Amino acid sequence: MQKRAELYRGKAKTVYYTDNPDLLILEFRNDTSAFDGLRIEQLERKGMINNKFNHFIMNKLAIAGIPTQVEQLLSDNEVLVKKLAMIPVECVIRNRAAGSLVKRLGIEEGRVLNPPTFELFLKNDALHDPLVNESHCRAFGWATTEQLERMKALSFKINTILSELFDKAGLILVDYKLEFGVFNGEITLGDEFSPDGCRLWEKETLKKMDKDRFRQGLGGVIEAYEEVAQRIGVVL
Ligand code: ADP
Ligand code: UDP
Repeated sequence: MQKRAELYRGKAKTVYYTDNPDLLILEFRNDTSAFDGLRIEQLERKGMINNKFNHFIMNKLAIAGIPTQVEQLLSDNEVLVKKLAMIPVECVIRNRAAGSLVKRLGIEEGRVLNPPTFELFLKNDALHDPLVNESHCRAFGWATTEQLERMKALSFKINTILSELFDKAGLILVDYKLEFGVFNGEITLGDEFSPDGCRLWEKETLKKMDKDRFRQGLGGVIEAYEEVAQRIGVVL
C-alpha cells in the first residue's frame, strides 16, 4: 500500500492517506513529547519500538474480540489502519493513582484504585487536555450516550485483558489512555497503545518503565521500553 498525501502531523506520528479511502498509514516517529508538546526530543528507535509494540497489543485485543483499527504492519515505523472518524476525547483507566490524578485530588501515588477509575479528557493541547464529563460530551456533540457507553465498556474490557498480560510479565499496568473512533458505525480502538500512553511499573521494585522516565528526566527511556517489549514477547 502506497503512502499518499499527508493528512496530519501530530506530536509523535504522521498520518498519511492511501489509495484506499477507508485506510490510512500511521508513521511512528522518534519524537517524544511531554507537557502538551512543550518539550520534544528525538529518542532513537522509539518509533520502531512503539509501532511494533502497538501492533502486538492491538492484535491481542482483536483476538479477544475488541474492534481495532489495525489492518497490517507495513514496516518498522508504519502500520496500515482503518480510517476512523476520531472521537476527540481520551479515555483513561487507572488501576493505581499516579500523574494528574495525584496532583488533582491529592491522592498518594501508587494507591490501588478498586474499582479502577474511568475518566474522559478533551483532546486539546492549547487547553492542556482538560478533564470533561459525559454530559459535556453529549452537549458539545463529541460523543453520544451510546458511544460513551461502548467506549467505557471496551476500556474496562481492555483493562482486564492487558492487566493480565502485563502481570504475567512482572509488570503493573498503572494507567493508560485510549482513543476511539467510528468505522462503519462501530466504535473502534484507534491511535496507539505503547509505553508513551500508559504507565507500567515493575512489580517487584515499582521501577517506572514508561514515558514517566522521559517526563521526570530519569534516563533509560528506550531501554525501559525495550525491556517491557521483550518481556511481553514483542519481536523488535
Ligand atoms: P497528537 O495528535 O496527540 O499530537 P499523534 O502524533 O499520535 O498525536 O497523532 C496521531 C493523530 O492521528 C491523532 O490526532 C489521532 O487522534 C489520529 N489517529 C490515530 N489513529 C487514527 C485512525 N485510525 N484514523 C484516523 N485518525 C487517527
Ligand atoms: N496520557 C496520554 N496522553 C495524554 C494524556 C495522558 O497518553 O495526552 C496517558 C499517560 O501516559 C498516562 C495516562 O494517560 O498513562 C493518565 O495520564 P494523566 O492524566 O495522569 O496525565 P499526565 O500526568 O500523564 O499528564
